[in-house]
Amino acid sequence: MKPCSFRIFAKAFVPALALMLGACAAQPPMARTAPPPADAGLGLVSAADGRAADAGAQILKAGGSATDAAIATMLALNVVEPQSSGIGGGGFLVTGDAAGRIETYDGRETAPAAARPRWFYNGETRMGYRDIIPGGRPVGVPGNVRLAAMAHARHGKLAWKALFQPAIRLAREGFVVSPRLNASLALFKDTAGFDPEGRALFFGADGAPVPAGTTVRNPALADILGRIADKGADSFYIGENAATIAAKVSASPGAPASMTTADIAGYQAKMRPPTCGKYRVWRICGMGPPSSGVVIVLQALGALERFDLKAMGPTSPTAWHLIAEAERLAFADRDKYLGDPDFVAVPVAGLTDPAYLSGRSALISENATIAAVSAGSPAGAPTTFASAAPIEEHGTSHFAAVDRWGHAASYTSTIESGFGSGLMAHGYYLNNELTDFNLVPERGGKPTANQVEGGKRPRSSMSPVLVYGPDGRLRIATGAAGGLTIPVQVIRILIGTLDWGMTARDAIAQGAVMPAPDGLVVEAGTPLEAMVPALIALGHGNVRAVPMRLKANAIEWTGTAEGGHWTGAADPRSEGASATP
Ligand code: GLU
Repeated sequence: MKPCSFRIFAKAFVPALALMLGACAAQPPMARTAPPPADAGLGLVSAADGRAADAGAQILKAGGSATDAAIATMLALNVVEPQSSGIGGGGFLVTGDAAGRIETYDGRETAPAAARPRWFYNGETRMGYRDIIPGGRPVGVPGNVRLAAMAHARHGKLAWKALFQPAIRLAREGFVVSPRLNASLALFKDTAGFDPEGRALFFGADGAPVPAGTTVRNPALADILGRIADKGADSFYIGENAATIAAKVSASPGAPASMTTADIAGYQAKMRPPTCGKYRVWRICGMGPPSSGVVIVLQALGALERFDLKAMGPTSPTAWHLIAEAERLAFADRDKYLGDPDFVAVPVAGLTDPAYLSGRSALISENATIAAVSAGSPAGAPTTFASAAPIEEHGTSHFAAVDRWGHAASYTSTIESGFGSGLMAHGYYLNNELTDFNLVPERGGKPTANQVEGGKRPRSSMSPVLVYGPDGRLRIATGAAGGLTIPVQVIRILIGTLDWGMTARDAIAQGAVMPAPDGLVVEAGTPLEAMVPALIALGHGNVRAVPMRLKANAIEWTGTAEGGHWTGAADPRSEGASATP
């Protein structure tokens, strides 16, 4: 594992600067110009819903770039998969051009200025999830619209307005409710405080969720999308829409919280230095802090590199044991060091330094389980933070696009939990992203890196990545939804494709092994279930097979420099699909 920035900065004898910057500068010496082969076609989009993939494909067909297509897909997902993502939430976008130049866009939500470390306390009592959702307290200022505007300004080929048309059509003319949306709605059937606007859209007069197969129109969403299309991103952040969001949050019947129109107007999307590293012959790039996603991916793969996973193969319990051990080590570092880089110094270069990772890897044995995993001491590690226990979460969508010019976009968009905060403004759900902060800010008298602060972005696990082969060509664009399982899903997709020679679809279909405080969780109904006794014998304690809500998407290039093709891969656990222009 060779994190590119560390190499660049170390060469320049200013490692301290690299640590201060806290992230890997991504323009890697190994990037080579590799124009797409002639049969790359007009590109491809892969998303968790075929109608959103189609929206992106329409944009590619009209001459749009991968970034244009990804934005159109993000907007269409808001309509057809409203429980997972949209303009009421945030996301991360990773773009790569044909020469492998990477940019990462941070559209993560921010806490309102009034937020404090004990934001989720009522006096001395910490509020539970049920006290704050549905409610205003966990809502962060949404980031996706300004992210889209920033990325479009740099990579857009079509007019901004054009990107909104497929989503507006779906919202205005209606879309058919999927079985997954119906099942998600059923969970909220009796939830008091679930916004009446959302109830009117998605529940019948009898209080039951609209059945799968019903056509639903969302004119309020069509109108606000039309307004943003015509007037630009500022119309989301300034004026009537901002006032509506602020009022929803401040006057929420459950857990109201201060959010002002100034909080919303002041939101900024940010371009961050990408975080890249090398795994065997492949270069992997993704979104650094405030996401912990690609740091976990690079750390785990770095610790695994010395093992011959290829020889072991996917049926080997030892291989999955090693993967789980590498993930446990990475999660321990994440819990201690990762947070918003505008507020805390995140030692990304130290965490992904090959020497540090080989020290971490040395803790792993093929025959036994590490008894007690704790965070390491990477170069640049601040001593002021305590480790904090992670929290489970669900609800997000990943999608990817490639275009005729060989550019790629890998985008994960989220409102955090299913239906986010449960509050709706203009037909879109407002996120509950602030629950990704450490709800308990301190441990042992020390603050945690991911405590709530006004204006701060909560730490994420989202891991949109782009993977380049030794020839400099894009090999895979991938990412996932599913809270803390996200980096775990991405790790097993990359090991599946890169080490085990699987197609991306087969690699996604594999089960996953997720570290848990008392052992491991493996996905029920997959071949991993049969490995439970072997994993227990290796010392993993409580290993249980449970259904896991996994959802990943990918685009991969199969072929050589002379020829080949893009293939989309959607999760068989979802209605995901890919579409070509
Ligand atoms: N909010 C989560 C994160 O940023 C993702 C939510 C999910 O996929 O369940 O890490």
